[in-house]
Amino acid sequence: MDQEGLEIISDLKSYLRYLKEMGITSLPSLRERKGYTLEEIQRELGDCKRCKLHSKRRTIVFGEGDEEAKLMVVGEGPGYDEDVQGRPFVGKAGQLLTRILQSVQIEREEVYITNVIKCRPPENRNPEPDEIEKCYPFLLKQIETIRPKTICALGTFAAQTLLKTDAKITSLRGRSFDFYGIKIFPTYHPAYLLRNPERKREVWEDMKRIAQYLMES
Ligand code: URA
Repeated sequence: MDQEGLEIISDLKSYLRYLKEMGITSLPSLRERKGYTLEEIQRELGDCKRCKLHSKRRTIVFGEGDEEAKLMVVGEGPGYDEDVQGRPFVGKAGQLLTRILQSVQIEREEVYITNVIKCRPPENRNPEPDEIEKCYPFLLKQIETIRPKTICALGTFAAQTLLKTDAKITSLRGRSFDFYGIKIFPTYHPAYLLRNPERKREVWEDMKRIAQYLMES
């Protein structure tokens, strides 16, 4: 560690000592400080009409899973089955996602699953920039509330949106990135794997890295 890092640690230590002397022995978690729950975020989203996707959607697919999850999975946007059921990743790609998680001993119920955009684009076309822009604040709030240890970004849109990059998923996967203290692992989208099964091995390698990271303290 360089001199600046050592000075920061020393300043932090003396600040924490000061707080202790003031009788403050534990710091509020980020979640407490933000002061909202997933239910409140969903209420704020309401019957959203912030972008054009509202006119053709059946349901808003907000997300589901453990509010205290250590792993959050972020996909692109709902497809047909998700739009009908109002739940993320319940179609063929979702079933594959569940199996991929299980292959590294992670159960779907332990994870929080959501998407960059919460409404199905017509004919499953790619999300457009204005749609992502309107939905992104809600994804951010979900992340701030859950405070997962790590996020698995599935596919190009999730990875590019969270990492603010134009880089291709092929160059992002296999690596990890810091996102305000949360580690992001991009990997291929399961829908891509259904079309390109020869890529499954790479996703399995990425998932093993995630499982390993989750086991570290
Ligand atoms: N693809 C996604 O990106 N998300 C879903 O919820 C389903 C399919």
